[in-house]
Amino acid sequence: MSTTTATGAMVEIRSVRKSFGALEVLRGVDLTVRTGEVAVVLGPSGSGKSTLLRTLNHLEKVDGGTVSVDGALVGYRRSGTTLHELREREILRQRTQIGFVFQDFRLFPHLTVLDNLIEAPVFALRRPKKEARESARKLLERVGLADKADAYPQTLSGGQQQRVAIARALALEPKLLLFDEPTSALDPELVGEVLDVIKDLARRGTTMIVVTHEIGFAREVADTVVFMDGGRIVEQGPPAQVLDSPRHERTAAFLSKVL
Ligand code: ADP
Ligand code: MG
Repeated sequence: MSTTTATGAMVEIRSVRKSFGALEVLRGVDLTVRTGEVAVVLGPSGSGKSTLLRTLNHLEKVDGGTVSVDGALVGYRRSGTTLHELREREILRQRTQIGFVFQDFRLFPHLTVLDNLIEAPVFALRRPKKEARESARKLLERVGLADKADAYPQTLSGGQQQRVAIARALALEPKLLLFDEPTSALDPELVGEVLDVIKDLARRGTTMIVVTHEIGFAREVADTVVFMDGGRIVEQGPPAQVLDSPRHERTAAFLSKVL
C-alpha cells in the first residue's frame, strides 16, 4: 500500500482516530504539512495535540485512518479489523528520520552533551565516531553551545538543555522535526533563546510541527496555524487569518485566554 502523492506533502494525516479506553482523543483528524513548511498547533490542554504528534513517530498507534510521512505509511488500520503492523526494523528506520523534542528535554543524564548528540548516529545509524563528533560540534555551534560539549546536562540551564535536545534531534538529519511544547517547562527569560533556534531552523527550510502556546512565535514562523479542540481540528489557515480573524468561537475563546 503506497500513499506517495504528487503534492510535496511531508505529512499526511487522514481521518485519524485514537481512543484510550472509552475516551476518544482523536476524532477524525486530517492534516497535511508540505515539505519545508512549519505548522504550529494550538489548543487547550487535553485537546489531543500530543497524541497527534506521537502518532507520527510510532509513540502511539492509531485506531483508524492513515498517517504517512514523506510517502511512507507510519500508522494505519485497514477495514477497521486488522491492525497492520510494520516490521520492527522499518519502525526504527522511520523513527531515525523524525526528530522529536519534548517539553522536558529528556537528555541522557549520564552522558556529556557531546555524547548525547553522537549516541543515536553512532549506535542507531552506525556512523563512524569521529565523523559523528565533528557533526555534533558543528550542531552545538549552531545552537550557541560550542563551549558546553563536555558538560553534563544537569549543569546546564533549562534553555541550554533544550537547545542540546534540539541539536541532538538534528544529529540524525531528520526530514521532519516535531516539537511538543518545547518552551513550556522553561523560565520566561529562557524561552526566547529556544524559540530563536527553532526560528533559525524554519529559515533553513526545515519541515516542522510545533505544539506551542507562544502566539508571537506562531505569527512569525508558521506557514499554517492549526487549532485543535476536543480531538478535532476546529480550524486551520495562515497565521493572520486564524490568529487575527478566527472563524470559530472556540478559537477566539482560546486565543483570548493565551494572548
Ligand atoms: P494535549 O497534548 O492537547 O494536552 P493529549 O494528547 O496529551 O492532549 O491528551 C488528550 C487526552 O488523552 C487527555 O484527556 C489525556 O488525559 C488523554 N491521554 C493521553 N495519553 C493517554 C494515555 N496513554 N492513556 C490514557 N489517556 C491518555
Ligand atoms: Mg500535550
